[in-house]
Amino acid sequence: MKLYAVIGNPVSHSLSPKIHEYFARQCRQDMRYERIKTNDFAATVGAFFRAGGAGLNVTLPFKQQAFELEANQSKRCQLAKAVNTLWINASGQLCADNTDGIGLVRDLLKYTSIESKRLLVIGAGGAARGVIPALLEKRPSSICIVNRDLRKAKLLAEEFSLDCMPMSQAIVNYDVLLNATSASLQHSLPPLYCARLAPSVVAYDLAYLSEPTVFMNWAKKLGADTVVDGLGMLVEQAAESFALWREIMPGYRLRMNILEQLRAGLQA
Ligand code: NDP
Repeated sequence: MKLYAVIGNPVSHSLSPKIHEYFARQCRQDMRYERIKTNDFAATVGAFFRAGGAGLNVTLPFKQQAFELEANQSKRCQLAKAVNTLWINASGQLCADNTDGIGLVRDLLKYTSIESKRLLVIGAGGAARGVIPALLEKRPSSICIVNRDLRKAKLLAEEFSLDCMPMSQAIVNYDVLLNATSASLQHSLPPLYCARLAPSVVAYDLAYLSEPTVFMNWAKKLGADTVVDGLGMLVEQAAESFALWREIMPGYRLRMNILEQLRAGLQA
């Protein structure tokens, strides 16, 4: 039986074991999935794979450290400069990828097309960096980055040849707002300035909680009809990691089933 795990700190709250155990059962894969909490990321990863471990999901705060590991890196994790999936390939080499971007795009496409749309990315941390390359692949008409610390927004915008603006600038004429800050986890809202949103605007929060986030409530109040949290993204990035490890992509119905189960669990 192959062993997989999510590694982070803290990690007890992670929903990844539930998702992967479900995929494994439904896809009849002989695998076990655990949680690993560590203070010494590199040493723990080394020990895990030396002991025969097959694959890891990497979560906060280690995604950037995982990028520093000596590994065969995918193009998308090189662009993101962060890794959320590690595994040993058939030749015994350590491989690294980042499935956060494709996870977000798959989920977002359930609500809106991305091609030719004007996107506003709020936040300039690891999650923003991780999803921008995948969003660009879908050819939006523009992406603008806004961040509390404007210097970080400028650096990220320069790297991907995008626009940026200070948070005090009014939000007008965007089709999709993506909240890639961690403000919702603190039950707060980034200091955004916006008078109203068109009903067609899609407001997507990468964070998820047991109830709609402050950002979702804010966007709804300003007029957006479609407000979404990041639980679907979590399931989609997990499915992509599972496919990298097991060469089987859990089907749409399975992904929707586990999403429903997680939602019910969060709300219970
Ligand atoms: P980082 O710590 O790398 O970045 C945090 C970002 O949030 C920075 O841009 C920071 O701004 C901003 N921020 C934090 N607090 C506030 C606040 N009160 N007001 C305004 N801006 C704030 O975190 P990540 O990028 O890794 O994660 C961001 C979010 O994405 C988290 O909510 C995380 O849960 C979510 N996420 C969801 C995933 C999913 O599968 N659904 C996957 C990955 C991430 P500044 O630079 O000015 O400090």
